[in-house]
Amino acid sequence: MQQKISLKLLPAETADDSAIKSLIAKTTGKKISTVNGFHIDKKSIDARGKIIWVNLTVIAFIDEPFYKRKIQSFNFKDVRQSAKKVVIIGAGPAGLFAALQLIELGIKPILLERGKDVRARRRDLAIMNKEGIVNPDSNYCFGEGGAGTYSDGKLYTRSNKRGDINRILQLFVYFGADEKILYDAHPHIGTNKLPTIITAMRKKIEDCGGDFLFEKKVTDFIINNEKIKSLKTADGHTFEGDAFILATGHSASDIYELLHHKKILIEAKPFALGVRVEHPQSLIDSVQYHCSARGEFLPAASYSLVQQVNGRGVFSFCMCPGGIIAPAATSPGQLVVNGWSPSKRNNPYANSGIVVQVEMSDIVQKKITNTTGELAMLQFQQYVEEKSFAAGGGKFVAPAQRMVDFSKGKLSADLPECSYQPGVKAVALNEVLPGFVYDAIAKGFIAFGKKMKGYFTNDAIVVATESRTSSPVRIPRDAETLTHPQLTNFYPCAEGAGYAGGIVSAAMDGERVAQQLAKIFMQ
Ligand SMILES: Cc1cc2nc3c(=O)[nH]c(=O)nc-3n(C[C@H](O)[C@H](O)[C@H](O)COP(=O)(O)OP(=O)(O)OC[C@H]3O[C@@H](n4cnc5c(N)ncnc54)[C@H](O)[C@@H]3O)c2cc1C
Repeated sequence: MQQKISLKLLPAETADDSAIKSLIAKTTGKKISTVNGFHIDKKSIDARGKIIWVNLTVIAFIDEPFYKRKIQSFNFKDVRQSAKKVVIIGAGPAGLFAALQLIELGIKPILLERGKDVRARRRDLAIMNKEGIVNPDSNYCFGEGGAGTYSDGKLYTRSNKRGDINRILQLFVYFGADEKILYDAHPHIGTNKLPTIITAMRKKIEDCGGDFLFEKKVTDFIINNEKIKSLKTADGHTFEGDAFILATGHSASDIYELLHHKKILIEAKPFALGVRVEHPQSLIDSVQYHCSARGEFLPAASYSLVQQVNGRGVFSFCMCPGGIIAPAATSPGQLVVNGWSPSKRNNPYANSGIVVQVEMSDIVQKKITNTTGELAMLQFQQYVEEKSFAAGGGKFVAPAQRMVDFSKGKLSADLPECSYQPGVKAVALNEVLPGFVYDAIAKGFIAFGKKMKGYFTNDAIVVATESRTSSPVRIPRDAETLTHPQLTNFYPCAEGAGYAGGIVSAAMDGERVAQQLAKIFMQ
């Protein structure tokens, strides 16, 4: 018989299958010899009390032969003879999962990606980190796999209603991710593992007859009769298709400018802006696990914080335990930071974005940009990124401050070690960030220190600016047909269009658009 059982274990016990089996036997009142094996169904850590517990839900095989968990299979079709062709702009999670879903539905995708393949892209990241030179088409945001490729690869999302999360996780496992993402409460993959998975996805798309083209930056849409007829790329090629999925992510400012220029409807959209904070991981571990050292059986600790300040939410974003702060700008002269972690999350630092929601009314009242139009939030984002770049003095050196100094508005005399490779420079960040953002974060840090004793410390470094949290523009689409109101075969998709945030929700939106297209093609 297979039985679902909830267990509560000490961290060290989770590494010992015989300890788990004996607990299964004890819980079910069976002899240990009858417990032939188990699958973990759910795993979470409860660190609220003095003793840290791991909660496991397992499927136990009792008096029944044990079999290893089966990896879900998918029916990818050969689409070479497909009557319909869908052009997908951007090979991030949305573009990749849209392409895979189209292939399952028997439709040929043509993926156009402005950047390079994951291996070539890695060289451009090294140049950015070491020499402070950004390739505007190949960087932490652009290139095969999109913005998520060199990330922590966190796969949890709150957008349960937007699609089938389990299907996305199963697809990641099918393409090589560790099965534990299927049961961990906070699954993540890690920067070192993501490129192999992304490459396997590309190979599948190509093997099935899809086209996957690199260094194809889309620069123009040719429109005829309320439809996109074709696309032009920077290298002079033209691509035709029956439908066009725009999955260019939140950093493709040139796409927003192109749409605006061509009078294709877009809207300014609120987004969150702030800083990235880095603590020693050992400090976060000791606060979260109430111990001096976390030991080998617990993962690097994370946190999630939120506080209302002056009627505005200040919150942690994209926390990377055991991670690295990375330069995530896509153009010269702009400073953007983000974070990544390897699968083991074993770097000595814990970083997280600490951001504040920015509304259109904030920038209009404060006259920060000279437009109130569709591109106003984008221009505001660029203004802050440029100010931050200038404050660092160039080459992506980031302006930074110790945390307590930040909240006191005091220039730090020196800075702690920081994982950010291009380097940091002591700057008073109240001179870089817009006043309302600075004020909220400065007070937010103090409040966070009360919630998490030890968090508010000058051992933490605050690095500016975390500005690419979501898109500053929304591209409207009909809630049912998912098409743009002016163009019947144009499908704005995922994060860049304002319909997703994060790897899993972008992947789900890609699938959703692909499914919608299959429906339309069948009519
Ligand atoms: C460093 C970093 C760490 C992150 N960590 C996480 C994490 O741990 N978990 C998580 O859920 N999210 C994380 N994110 C966010 C996540 O990566 C995004 O939410 C997700 O990738 C959005 O998917 P997308 O497909 O909508 O767009 P993107 O991933 O941005 O992909 C868009 C693609 O379009 C291409 N493109 C842009 N313009 C053009 C054009 N004109 N022509 C052709 N191609 C074009 C780009 O090169 C890019 O490959 C991280 C982001 C960064 C930068």
